[in-house]
Amino acid sequence: MKHDTNYTIVGGGLAGALMACYLGKAGHEVNVYERRPDLRGGKAPAGKSINLAISERGIAALRRIGLAERVLDRAVPMRGRMIHSPEGRLSFQPYSKNPNDAINSVSRGGLNAILLEKADSYPNVTLHYEHKCIDVDLDAAKAQFEVGTKGELVTAEGDVIVGADGAFSAVRAKMQHLDRFDFRQDYLRHGYKELVIPPGEHGTHRIEKNALHIWPRRSYMMIALPNEDGSFTCTLFWPFDGPHSFAAVEANGNALGYFKTHFQDAVPVMPTLAEDYARNPTNSLVTVRCGPWNYKDKAVLVGDAAHAVVPFYGQGMNAAFGDCIALDECLAAGGADRADALAEYYRQRKTHIDALADLAIGNFVEMRDHAGSPGFRFKKWRERTLHTLLPGWYTPLYNMISFSQVPYGDALKRARRQDRIVRWVCGAAALIVAVVVLWILLTRFIG
Ligand SMILES: Cc1cc2nc3c(=O)[nH]c(=O)nc-3n(C[C@H](O)[C@H](O)[C@H](O)COP(=O)(O)OP(=O)(O)OC[C@H]3O[C@@H](n4cnc5c(N)ncnc54)[C@H](O)[C@@H]3O)c2cc1C
Repeated sequence: MKHDTNYTIVGGGLAGALMACYLGKAGHEVNVYERRPDLRGGKAPAGKSINLAISERGIAALRRIGLAERVLDRAVPMRGRMIHSPEGRLSFQPYSKNPNDAINSVSRGGLNAILLEKADSYPNVTLHYEHKCIDVDLDAAKAQFEVGTKGELVTAEGDVIVGADGAFSAVRAKMQHLDRFDFRQDYLRHGYKELVIPPGEHGTHRIEKNALHIWPRRSYMMIALPNEDGSFTCTLFWPFDGPHSFAAVEANGNALGYFKTHFQDAVPVMPTLAEDYARNPTNSLVTVRCGPWNYKDKAVLVGDAAHAVVPFYGQGMNAAFGDCIALDECLAAGGADRADALAEYYRQRKTHIDALADLAIGNFVEMRDHAGSPGFRFKKWRERTLHTLLPGWYTPLYNMISFSQVPYGDALKRARRQDRIVRWVCGAAALIVAVVVLWILLTRFIG
């Protein structure tokens, strides 16, 4: 493949900035167009969530451009779930038998800024801020942008457009007009709102630092991820409507009272709760499935533009980074035919990302409805025990997703196979015990 291809990347978020680094490193001419101002100047919010969890897949993607250590230095490792019961009782469930296995809480804005800085360090990468994509000509690989707020228009002409412009992608919107392009989006009936637990004295963490905190309450929940400065970002996942919902709390105008009843141990560490609740927006959660993500040798989608997933497995960004690795490798291996390389990238990723979308929704139900129950604790204990006793054969699904790079669909298949065998062995063992007990009883009474 020739190395002087001209790439137009739409979106300088997490996936767009990383892809710019990969393409820049490979020697291509790259222009990144981002709708927001440069967040490195502190002028723009980073979007979506204040912090997020990066795990093995995301770290591997950073390693390729020498950024893993720098990012992990600023991360807070979370080694398990800390469950908060309605009465305020705490129980810790490690993620793995191996205490070094952790997911890492990082600042979204901080990570995006590091990636943009790295992209900027390649002389063949140019970043354009406050450029909002408003139209795309797929066949000509041209994109039109509105610059700033004065309505000035510019057109970018290159060889390939990379749509990295998130769940409501303008590039994808154009691809949706193509014949045989599949598209589906599903909103959850739950939304989310971010709140804060501020740092304690001298920047200490007011609750356990190295855990992902969960307040599971069946149809709704709150979680909290630690930040480096001692604070936690809490996220409420509540239904929009119904008895325990954003609408219900807004109708009686007493968020604090609601928290005192349902999240009582959180209230003393959230002194600005009422103001934060009133000020912060309530956002929706969407799953986007579409395909194909490639168009001839002209356009390709990465990250949320190709596949937004709900955040309950903490994998959306990790998967977006996996896309960037796969696309980079397919382009490098693709020889002269870029159209084939883009098609191969889509073929490699699609089924695995579809599996992740389902896993993410499943994990919401698990976190919200079951995480506090004795049955869930037993299941996690059984998984850890089997993993310890049979490390070569049994790996829990969570470990394969968060602490390995086994493709998502393969991880899911393997987990189902393991669970089938465990169920079969347990069933056979129970049958043998029953037969032995029956035989003892019969020989006693008949004999
Ligand atoms: C509440 C929440 C928590 C999450 N937590 C995690 C987590 O813990 N771990 C994890 O791995 N994932 C998490 N995710 C998912 C993760 O945020 C996304 O998967 C990730 O941001 C995808 O990166 P992206 O670059 O594809 O999209 P985005 O981050 O959405 O970036 C898209 C970029 O494109 C720009 N843009 C949009 N439209 C245009 C346009 N028309 N023209 C120019 N630029 C444009 C945007 O300004 C933005 O900078 C979470 C998501 C949510 C909602």
